[in-house]
Amino acid sequence: MSRPAKNPKEFDDIRLALKQIKEHVDNQYYHLIPELPEWCNKDYCFNDNGSDYSINIYKLTCTCQSFIDKTGLYDPRDIRSLCKHIYYKMARTKVMGYLDDLSCLLLKDYMHSPDMSFYSFQLLERNVIIGLAQTPWVNVYTKAKRTKEDVEGNYTKYSYNINQKRWSYNISPYPKNLIIDAINLSR
Ligand SMILES: [Zn+2]
Repeated sequence: MSRPAKNPKEFDDIRLALKQIKEHVDNQYYHLIPELPEWCNKDYCFNDNGSDYSINIYKLTCTCQSFIDKTGLYDPRDIRSLCKHIYYKMARTKVMGYLDDLSCLLLKDYMHSPDMSFYSFQLLERNVIIGLAQTPWVNVYTKAKRTKEDVEGNYTKYSYNINQKRWSYNISPYPKNLIIDAINLSR
């Protein structure tokens, strides 16, 4: 008589536990929105589907329920504290021009995929941020540079498909192989 196979559930549980441990101890990254110019410090009225909300993009506050529900969960300047009204208001005014390139990229992607988690790595002295959501496409944010010799540009977003093992438009960041290792470590 053969021995019963190990319960597959047990294996899944160990994997889940390892994932949870990893998420708590290592590289999870929380992006804080830098302070905006003083002229942003006023209350704007924002109408969304017939309801009026009062928004202050300097203080990063809104009177909607989604914002209130998240109050106290994160640092007040953490992009996860913001609601879509604050983001829409920022995106529609010249405020975005005062934000650094990394904040603009992360804020936009987080607002479109609120389940996204970010992880940061230092790879060959380069800052690399990885954004994971419920899709095979992983976002990678780092300063544009194709090869070791290339000059660094602005923060740029790259996308890597973990199933197809390929970069979107075949455009990869530097150092690509280490970044793929970091992606595999974060999942
Ligand atoms: Zn709101």
